[in-house]
Amino acid sequence: MSSSDLPPTPTLSARHSGIPERLLHKATHAKSLIYNGRTVADTTPLARGLPVPQGISKSAFLAAIEELRSTLGADHVVLNDQTITNGWYMEHPNTHDIMSLFDTEEFIASAVVYPGSVTDVQSIVKWANKHLIPIFPISIGRNLGYGGSAPRVRGSVTVDLGRRMNRILDINVDDFTCLVEPGVTFYALYEEIQRRGLGDKVWIDTPDLGGGSVIGNTLERGVGYTPYGDHWMCHSGLEVVLPSVGDDGKVPVMRTGMGALGTGGENVWQCFPYGYGPHNDGIFSQSNFGIVTKMGMTLMPNPGGYESYAYTFPNESDYAPLIDIIRPLRIANILENVAQLRQGLQTLTVEGRPRTAYYNGSGPIPDAVVREHQRKTPTGECAWVYYGMAYGPPHVRAHKLAIIDAEFKRIPGCRKIDPASMPEDDYYWSRDHIASGTPDLEELRWVNWMPNGAHICFSPVSPTRGADAEKLYAMAKRWHTEQGLDLMMAFLVGMREMHLIIEIVFDVTDKEMKKRAEKCLRGMIDEAASLGYGEYRTHLALMDQVAGTYNWNDNALMKFNNQLKDAIDPNGILAPGRCGIWPARYRNRGWELKGGETSTEGNGVAPVSEQARI
Ligand code: ADP
Repeated sequence: MSSSDLPPTPTLSARHSGIPERLLHKATHAKSLIYNGRTVADTTPLARGLPVPQGISKSAFLAAIEELRSTLGADHVVLNDQTITNGWYMEHPNTHDIMSLFDTEEFIASAVVYPGSVTDVQSIVKWANKHLIPIFPISIGRNLGYGGSAPRVRGSVTVDLGRRMNRILDINVDDFTCLVEPGVTFYALYEEIQRRGLGDKVWIDTPDLGGGSVIGNTLERGVGYTPYGDHWMCHSGLEVVLPSVGDDGKVPVMRTGMGALGTGGENVWQCFPYGYGPHNDGIFSQSNFGIVTKMGMTLMPNPGGYESYAYTFPNESDYAPLIDIIRPLRIANILENVAQLRQGLQTLTVEGRPRTAYYNGSGPIPDAVVREHQRKTPTGECAWVYYGMAYGPPHVRAHKLAIIDAEFKRIPGCRKIDPASMPEDDYYWSRDHIASGTPDLEELRWVNWMPNGAHICFSPVSPTRGADAEKLYAMAKRWHTEQGLDLMMAFLVGMREMHLIIEIVFDVTDKEMKKRAEKCLRGMIDEAASLGYGEYRTHLALMDQVAGTYNWNDNALMKFNNQLKDAIDPNGILAPGRCGIWPARYRNRGWELKGGETSTEGNGVAPVSEQARI
């Protein structure tokens, strides 16, 4: 399909996951860039047919699907037995990962079900326990780079919560809180605040791209770039459907924090996250212990002004002394938002053009080539760029900006970018939007570096110290050079800790390149662990390996997680394998992926006696 034939991107008024009207022109442009580089058909027939999950025959599975249809309505249960459509970020599928490291039909759903209420979610859980069918909840399913909407276990039934459960239940401008259902995206929340005329008063925090759900991103411990950037820290209160059936035949729904009060929490639920007793919220984040149907989130008061700024640094070695300068400034909140130090190549990749526009050789793109092209960009030649923002009225900003300027300029050759010199469509302004809580769509641009561009992230956490950064950078550079891959990275400083975010961009049709990408990722995970660093989040294919690095004291943490899993989900129906947590039926049967496996399905599942089922 040529890019001029592309149908328009659905907007928010047409679809809960659509693009806001104000960004439609950007979506049209982004879509044309992606489809320009695409050589594979958008829709392909399923080569392996209906992906029936392990442990059930096809006929029993189809009978179970009919039963679910009669409970929820036929329209709300859709089998995945014909073709799959890849789409792109804004029109993503809910059946599989469009950025898969493996064959597309490995991490794939057998069906998608669309609950319309908490009661529907309870019915789905009851049904899954009765038939021992794995289910996998998603809110929007745009977790791209980490598995997208795909389940870990082939043939799981995807529970797409967002399509019918997407209400903003409350926006409270006195307490600066909101309460949302799974299908509320950052785009939708922002637009609703503007529609209600509250934009002068209230800000949201948004990730680089605004199409993910507030709930999904927060449960994955995603970040944004205002002072409210740590989403998990900023949430307050969960409502969770648990994955098993109680003795009374009912599937329990619980609320955490103040929501557990007999009144259901009401006003206080979103104001105080802890309630009384153990703070259980943590077990529902990056796990497979429950299905979140409501979440409270804090909102930021409009700070009364803001000003973004950027600095460039000329030498490759500048990052280590700079990170030592950043640390005390960030901890003291002089640097007020997630400090973002991006490596020079990124100033080219965000132009949205293919790598071949700059370089045709094999192996990582040489530094001299990067610099030659950078000279033609508004940012200019540099090894690193720092993007930040100061908040508040001018006199408040001026004080902090003066300190930052003096400190950064201790690095020889440091240069402050003049915002007035930045063209309207420069990436600089995307950072400006994001850091002021306005969701954007520009971060997609670098995916076009490769035709059929896909990406997978490696994101280890370390203290914010130059010495740690040096170890991680040297390691990443070596692995990328060995595997002939371009190193695309940024250091993101949350507060005391730093996330190194490396995106490996690959051609999803290039099997050999995918092998090199996997080798590089797995090598870095193990080596980082041996140096004392671990990932904060990872792709489905890497979850077992990453979970395996958190193995202190004879795997005490995973043993505890397994104990919880067996107690909360004895039939092992909810998102088996997610975050490396396998239910008893799957455990020790070869499901873990550590590299070199030929199947993602291990040796199937253990049978469960009729009695144990419900
Ligand atoms: P996004 O909304 O950012 O697109 P996803 O819907 O893809 O994110 O969710 C990211 C991951 O978080 C999913 O793979 C899923 O395992 C988990 N998740 C998302 N929503 C829920 C939910 N409501 N309850 C439990 N787990 C969820």
